[in-house]
Amino acid sequence: MMLYAFYALALGALGAYAFFQVRLLKTPLTKTSIVLAIAHPDDEVMFFGPTLAELTRPEHGNTVRVLCMSSGNHDGLGEVRKKELINSCKAFGIRESHVTILEREELKDGPKELWDPSLVGDQMNLFAKKHNIETIITFDEKGVSGHTNHIALYVGLTYFIQTFKERTPVKTCYVLKTVPLLRKYASLLDLPITMLFTEALMPLVAEYIGAGGAANLLGGQAGAGAANPVAARNQKLRPLELLFVSSPAAVLQAKGAMEKHESQMVWFRKIYVVVSRYMAINELRRVM
Ligand SMILES: [Zn+2]
Repeated sequence: MMLYAFYALALGALGAYAFFQVRLLKTPLTKTSIVLAIAHPDDEVMFFGPTLAELTRPEHGNTVRVLCMSSGNHDGLGEVRKKELINSCKAFGIRESHVTILEREELKDGPKELWDPSLVGDQMNLFAKKHNIETIITFDEKGVSGHTNHIALYVGLTYFIQTFKERTPVKTCYVLKTVPLLRKYASLLDLPITMLFTEALMPLVAEYIGAGGAANLLGGQAGAGAANPVAARNQKLRPLELLFVSSPAAVLQAKGAMEKHESQMVWFRKIYVVVSRYMAINELRRVM
């Protein structure tokens, strides 16, 4: 019985994965200026690989920057890890000048280091102003791995939104959704489960089935967008959730980026690359 359930899930995952290769689901983040805010060198690829692979695709015309709040100096490897981050970003086509690594006494790498939310939020605000950032992407309240510094970025983002919302070029903020442990290490097997619960597919549903009804499917124009055109448009431009599923090429790109973090490639990270859902799937939730 269990075996059949596994086969069904594997088959579902295969089908779902094939569906995403058609690329029907388009990202609304195009021709825009984006910053990925992370806590440590390697967060960008261990957790945000699919996001970076998608948003840096040249046809989207985005400018993608990375703001890293620490050099990851917990084990005294800060200098090495800074270089590794720059090389990892290059694997995603992000040039060195677009990678900023802060080294502040108050923002030290470490699970016991408590970062002041107002300081993190201020850094986001300054960075956004300086580079005319329109979208911030960072961790959610659980920080994927639960690391204190990851969670501090979410709390800092919350502070940023509350304090600077009215006077910032930033229009949208997205956070990376944390999934339970079992799903985290299910790689692509988690895709059917993700699709079941995500709202990221709503724009597709609205386009083909929802607002405008079956008329769209049949090629008719009559009912198009009749239900609530404003809501449908909003859903399309600023969806509540985004889903990035990496193509095989994008998975390899992330794997290549991961290998730049040589100092971090201990045995369990090598396993992580193979089993982690976050190497192939990213689901983001809009918080602003
Ligand atoms: Zn980290």
